[in-house]
Amino acid sequence: MTGNIIDSDNGVLIRYNDMKIALDPLKVIDADLIFVSHAHIDHIHPQKDDAIILTSEETDLLAKRRGIDLGKTVQELNGFELIDSGHILGSRGLLIDGKIFYTGDLATRSRAFLNKGKSVKCDILIIESTYGKNNFHFPPLEKILDEVNKIISNLFSRGIPVVLMGYPLGKAQVLSYLFSSWNPIYVHESVQKMNEAYSQLGIKLRDFIPYHEAFEKDLLKRRPWILIAPLWSGRTNFVKGLKRRYNAVTIAFSGWSVEPSYKYAMSFDYSFPLSDHCDFDELIKFVKDCEPKKVYTIHGFSSELASYLRKLGYDATPLLGSQKSLEESF
Ligand SMILES: [Zn+2]
Repeated sequence: MTGNIIDSDNGVLIRYNDMKIALDPLKVIDADLIFVSHAHIDHIHPQKDDAIILTSEETDLLAKRRGIDLGKTVQELNGFELIDSGHILGSRGLLIDGKIFYTGDLATRSRAFLNKGKSVKCDILIIESTYGKNNFHFPPLEKILDEVNKIISNLFSRGIPVVLMGYPLGKAQVLSYLFSSWNPIYVHESVQKMNEAYSQLGIKLRDFIPYHEAFEKDLLKRRPWILIAPLWSGRTNFVKGLKRRYNAVTIAFSGWSVEPSYKYAMSFDYSFPLSDHCDFDELIKFVKDCEPKKVYTIHGFSSELASYLRKLGYDATPLLGSQKSLEESF
């Protein structure tokens, strides 16, 4: 195979057998093929009318629900294989010609209705490195659930409402599923919109009452309750209002919770590392499972992960986005 990888400030570009392939570009781009790994907002952008967009059906629909029409999308293409990356519903990695594997955002532990991201043997691996630093170690999901349910139980016994916080797309649906046995549960509108989209795509989530309806009907005065809301800092007016009016306690869910300063910096009462990404050990295991000859790391701690992988004997290079000049041939 011949081609090269270009580290651009507009996603990763691959020239392969006379094709220019753009992986998760951040803005409009000229390419023969554009791959969109999932529907998080930094990955979905309208492209030119004639652009061919390779993505999953779920990502296409979730993007539309977020107000972005990805354009002319295809779910299959000869020589390209979409691989489940376990990050959010519809998230996929891309395997090019059975040789070059781009993971997109990746999680290799199953959570609620999400399967583990799959590894694939490849020559060249381009792997995300959001938590690619050796201090990001996430506990098992069961342990987090156990602790959080104990906290909720304790607060409920004292009539104190709880706000569970995570990104409206992806994390909030996992929270809606995992904590659905509590009652009553209300959801912020942004969460409700994505919950509905998930239900339409076959993930049946409970039909929760939207926050504004609960507010208008004065339901929030009847405590305790749970509200599933976006991951907002405790200093936003919305969260401050919930605390002032209802004495609510906030529990945030993010991999960054591993950093002791995170909870205080964001003014959360509690925070737990329930993540939609791999932790450090999972990233290393994933690389080992793929048995690549060459590894590129992208996003987050890309330099740290590449450096650790080199110590393990891998040929690893970080893609830094701003390093426009890097063109590596293969
Ligand atoms: Zn993502």
